Amino acid sequence: MKHKELLMGTALGILGFLIILEVNVWPVLLLCGLGYLLYTSGGQLRGVGKGRVGAVIAHTTQVTFDDIGGQEAAKRELIEALEFLRDYERAKALGIRPLKGVLLSGPPGTGKTLLAKAAASYTDSVFISASGSEFIEVYAGLGAQRIRELFSSARKLAKEHKKPGAVIFIDEIEVLASRRGAQAGHLEYDQTLNQLLVEMDGLKLDSGVRILVIAATNRPDLLDPAIMRPGRFDRTVAVGLPDRKGRLEILKIHLRNKPLADDVDLEDLARETFGLSGAHIESLCNEAAISTLRRGGAAISSQDLAEALNKVLLGERLDRRPSDEEMWRVCAHEAGHAIVAETIRPGSVAHITVSPRGNALGFVRHSPAEDRYLYPREVLEEEIQILLAGAAAEQLMFGSKSTGAANDFRRALDIAKRIVLYGMSPLGVVDKDTAPMDMLARVTNEIIQNADRCAVSILTRYRAVLEKLSEELFEKETVSAEELRSYLAAPGKLTWKWRKPSVRRSRIKRRM
Ligand code: ATP
Repeated sequence: MKHKELLMGTALGILGFLIILEVNVWPVLLLCGLGYLLYTSGGQLRGVGKGRVGAVIAHTTQVTFDDIGGQEAAKRELIEALEFLRDYERAKALGIRPLKGVLLSGPPGTGKTLLAKAAASYTDSVFISASGSEFIEVYAGLGAQRIRELFSSARKLAKEHKKPGAVIFIDEIEVLASRRGAQAGHLEYDQTLNQLLVEMDGLKLDSGVRILVIAATNRPDLLDPAIMRPGRFDRTVAVGLPDRKGRLEILKIHLRNKPLADDVDLEDLARETFGLSGAHIESLCNEAAISTLRRGGAAISSQDLAEALNKVLLGERLDRRPSDEEMWRVCAHEAGHAIVAETIRPGSVAHITVSPRGNALGFVRHSPAEDRYLYPREVLEEEIQILLAGAAAEQLMFGSKSTGAANDFRRALDIAKRIVLYGMSPLGVVDKDTAPMDMLARVTNEIIQNADRCAVSILTRYRAVLEKLSEELFEKETVSAEELRSYLAAPGKLTWKWRKPSVRRSRIKRRM
């Protein structure tokens, strides 16, 4: 710092002196500017290990495999791969070729970074992370230079911290290691990847610091085959979305430092969070705690968790409230979805709400009894019936449908097409490229029409429940699954009579 100030002072002094002598200083200033530009771009390169590439969090990595919920298979595979780093002498005695790279592949937020950090603490190594996009520059050669510096920083850091090894974590590896030649006219990508391969080929078990490269990707299909060949990333570990047991473990991990009310049932919550990643679940726990803080509570209740789940799935609750006329439609629409879902799959509805969030005006949250990985035809047809039930309910109650069902129709059509193309329709196995289009369209349409008839018949049978539920939603915005189930259990007891929305609207306004 002192050097810099001294230099600046001297330069300014000389500049002043030259001006007094009436010397033209512009060429000098221009040269200085150019020099400064060159210096700062060089600084980017020197920044490796200080934050530009490879933010060093070596000695602060406290994450262990116990902090990662679910992912049992991924943990097992990774730990197995790490044994050679831990038991170096035995690996050497057995003449084992060092494992140089592990590729973690899976959807976003499933814990790939966490696994890499846990690998570093498991092997008592320093941890350096960088993202694939940080290596790609417009200037040829810069990416390759950064790769070299990343590896040398890893070695230096391990020595500084007196650690036997280093884990280099490269996130979004597909950016830097996509198929060579794929980026037309951009040699920089190819040079960077070549440099990574060269560095990995040069890794030795007995080279002082043992380096393991762990890379993560959401798109393994984009990777250059050279990167996957034995001796480089020769182990691919799949890190998928957690199953119910995994979600329960993740919930426990993220709620372990938070007080929970007695009404919280984590098993139920794990069921309701089907399809969510670890990152979503972490956010859900955090949002639930924030909601508790906002209402001034001392412990997180099941209501806080339900509210947080809606927020994570659909976004923040909006202040916007549709007009009463639209609101009646939304209530009938959501009631239709809920009744058909609960009738076809008893116990599957978790929550019905008509408070606007994100793009949705209302929402029925489902809680499947089991995680499902295979979809037989009957299940797909049921799914279509549930999707069409919203519009069917509008038709029954108001004599017309609305644009609110557009997304439902699109999804229903997608499923119907899948039934046909996966050979589950009466047509049997068909090839979509050679089968006549009108034949495919006719069968798809039949599937949709049949499902629509089923939805209408269920809703006609439970017309009284549909009307009662719509009214309840209009008044309370949210109806619990238990309430819905009690109406469906005894629809005959619903003595309440549906009147035209305009009449009831004024009644409700008066009440308010
Ligand atoms: P991306 O592909 O988007 O980089 P990622 O798979 O690397 O995501 P992480 O960064 O490891 O995901 O996870 C993000 C956060 O989500 C973690 O900090 C953690 O709080 C939470 N999380 C994700 N998976 C798990 C898990 N299996 N157990 C516990 N927490 C998890």
